[in-house]
Amino acid sequence: MSRLKLCSYLAALLSSLVLYVADPSLPLSITDPEQAQIERVTTIYEKIAPFTMESFPTLVYQKSEVMNAWFSGEKITITSAIAEKLNDDELAFVIAHELSHFALGHLRDEVEGQEEAIISKEAHADELAVYYTLRAGYDVCKAKGTFEKFRELYGESLLNDHPSNALRLYMIDLPMCH
Ligand SMILES: [Zn+2]
Repeated sequence: MSRLKLCSYLAALLSSLVLYVADPSLPLSITDPEQAQIERVTTIYEKIAPFTMESFPTLVYQKSEVMNAWFSGEKITITSAIAEKLNDDELAFVIAHELSHFALGHLRDEVEGQEEAIISKEAHADELAVYYTLRAGYDVCKAKGTFEKFRELYGESLLNDHPSNALRLYMIDLPMCH
């Protein structure tokens, strides 16, 4: 590789790192906690995903200050904020919920604008997520912490087309958790 090529290669590499590192003046070791977080999310994902189907969507970890997760057909995206704020059991439920959308063949586009249909899909995904969370060996009783944290941060509902956090808490209020 010529020196010029090497320089442009390094420049490209550095600019891609800048996307990843909040403050480029800080040492690169600050990416380590991030790497640990990605590994943690991946581990949970890989424990649950095989219970859905033989092949499952790709996991995408997205840096964002908003707690969110979504299924978009071929991918399931988990934001850094949701990973950081939830413990393993809570995060397992969120991942199980998104994998349930996949297993149930839910694609938002199909029902765009039909609020009731979307809410019922969300409810079904929560129901199936309880099962996947249990199968993967996580404490499904801790899943309520997910919605409590959402409520604390964003009020009753993060997105208008989701059932309220109160309703979701009620739906996952399992007798075995009392
Ligand atoms: Zn959902």
